Amino acid sequence: SDLNTFRFFEEEMDARAQERRILENDLRLAVDREELELYFQPLVDVYTEEVMGAEALVRWRHPRRGLISPADFIALAEETGIIVKIGAWVLRRACQEAVKWPQAIRVAVNLSPAQFKDRALVANLRAVLAETGLEPTRLELEVTESLLLRDTAVNLQMLNEIKSLGVRISMDDFGTGYSSLGNLRSFPFDKIKIDRSFVSELERSPDSAAIIRAVLSLGRGLGMTTTAEGVETRDQLAYLRAEGCVEVQGFYFSEPRPALEIADMLHERARSEEHTSELQSHLNLVCRLLLEKK
Ligand code: C2E
Ligand code: MG
Ligand code: MG
Repeated sequence: SDLNTFRFFEEEMDARAQERRILENDLRLAVDREELELYFQPLVDVYTEEVMGAEALVRWRHPRRGLISPADFIALAEETGIIVKIGAWVLRRACQEAVKWPQAIRVAVNLSPAQFKDRALVANLRAVLAETGLEPTRLELEVTESLLLRDTAVNLQMLNEIKSLGVRISMDDFGTGYSSLGNLRSFPFDKIKIDRSFVSELERSPDSAAIIRAVLSLGRGLGMTTTAEGVETRDQLAYLRAEGCVEVQGFYFSEPRPALEIADMLHERARSEEHTSELQSHLNLVCRLLLEKK
C-alpha cells in the first residue's frame, strides 16, 4: 500500500541521514587521525611537454571504506565547515612537499568558497609560506566561479590580499556552473582552467571545440595563462596545441600520484637533464678538439 511505500522511504531516508552523520563524524576526525593523503598531478607545458607544476589533490584513506575520492567527501566537508581544517592541512602539506622538489616548479592548491568564510585564511596563508619557506610565486590557488556568486565584495578583497603576497590565482573548472564573462573581468586571474567536460567532448562535439577555442582566445586577450584539464588522448593534445593552449593536465601525461611518486619522477627528470647537459658538454669538447686538429 501507499502507507508501506511511504514507511519504506522514511526508513531509507533515516538510514541515509544516519550514514551521513557517521561519515561526518569520521571526517571530523580524519585530519587528526592522519587519514588524509595528498596526491599530485603534473601540469605540463603544451609545447615542450615539460612539467611546469603539479596540482595537489586530496584523498581520504578511510579505515573501513578504503580510499575515498574528494568527489565523495569535499561537498560534505564544505557543508559542515570541516573543509576549513582539511584545507589548512592540504595547504601546509602541499607547500612542505613543493619545497623538496628538485625544480622550482609551481604547486597548485584548491580553495573552496567555504574557506573564504574563515577570516584567518590570508593570515594562515602568510604563516604557511613563512614556515615552509615556499616562494609565494610558486604557489597557485585554484578557486571556482561560485566564489564570486555570494559575498562577492569580501571574497574579492581577500583574493586581492592573497595576490598582493605574490601568490597566483587560477579560475578552476571554467565553463561549468555560473559561467559569466563578468567573472573574468572582476578579478585579474593569472590562469583559466578549462573544465575537463569540454575536453572529453572535443572529438564528438563541434560545440565543445568551439567553446575551447573561444576560451583560449579569451585567455590570450586578457593576458591569462590557459590550462586544459582532463587531457586523455593525443588527438586532444594536438587540438589544444594547435589552438594555442598553454598548459595541459590529464591522464595522457599522468594520473594524480602519491607525493612520493611525484617527487621521484621530478628527481628522475632532474637527473636525466643533468645527464643530457653533461653529454652536451662532452660533445662540445670533442667538437672543439676535432676542429683544433684540422
Ligand atoms: P579539480 O580541482 O578540477 O581537479 C581535477 C580533477 O580531475 C581531479 O579529480 C583529477 O583526478 C581529475 N582528472 C585529471 N585528469 C583527468 C583525466 O585525464 N581524465 C579524467 N576523467 N579525470 C581527470 P579528483 O582528484 O577526484 O578531485 C575532484 C575534485 O575534488 C577536484 O576537482 C577539486 O574540485 C576537489 N578537490 C580535490 N582536492 C581538494 C582539496 O584539497 N580542496 C578542495 N577544496 N577541493 C579539492
Ligand atoms: Mg583544481
Ligand atoms: Mg578543475
